Amino acid sequence: MAQHTEPFKDLGLDTRLLTALEHQGLHTPTEIQDQAIPVILSGFDLIASSKTGSGKTLAFLLPSLHRLMKTKALGKRDPRALILAPTRELAKQVYEQLRSLTSGTSYNIALLLGGENFNDQIKLLRRQPQLIVATPGRLANHLDARSLMLNGLELLIMDEADRMLDLGFAKELNQINDAADHRRRQTLMFSATLDHAQVNEMADKLLKAPKRIAVGAAN
Ligand code: ADP
Ligand code: MG
Repeated sequence: MAQHTEPFKDLGLDTRLLTALEHQGLHTPTEIQDQAIPVILSGFDLIASSKTGSGKTLAFLLPSLHRLMKTKALGKRDPRALILAPTRELAKQVYEQLRSLTSGTSYNIALLLGGENFNDQIKLLRRQPQLIVATPGRLANHLDARSLMLNGLELLIMDEADRMLDLGFAKELNQINDAADHRRRQTLMFSATLDHAQVNEMADKLLKAPKRIAVGAAN
């Protein structure tokens, strides 16, 4: 894993996040983290790629949480951030990282996975989580059921966008985009590769004047 010499604390992240990183024994950002974090902190939409295992999860979680910590919610009850991942397993992994980064905060986080009890998830949503991690199909089911509104969404994050599209989730991504359609939304797309026609097509549709980062020669 390529390491840069500037430590996390030079990126200007909230001290609660730096403390959480310290507890995990992480001091130095990986290359994708080093490049993506400042861009996301500046509020830009972003499409980014780097290979599996390069640390993409923290590349989007750290700056996203920082921005949420530093700003007031746009809406009163809708979630502020939604992170989509292609599979149950990947969504769980993102959720666990999110949980450990926010352990010192009062954020209410919901994990909405396909295959789990729908009514239990409705109960979770009634508690008005500020952060949601979900698989796209189940999230779309909740939009259909009106158990969830995304009018106040500030951050839409698509992890492993290439895989989500390969799995046939284009329709759900479009539906989610439409439900959260407003000018102040920041949208981030992460992928193992940017050399993927459907990823670029989706980015054209969902992102506003995005910055583009591709780490590694394969891109
Ligand atoms: P990707 O999404 O790019 O496949 P992950 O975000 O899953 O990669 O991270 C892969 C592994 O690298 C995880 O175990 C994670 O804890 C570890 N990791 C992430 N960032 C760092 C870092 N800055 N320093 C050391 N290890 C890291
Ligand atoms: Mg990943």
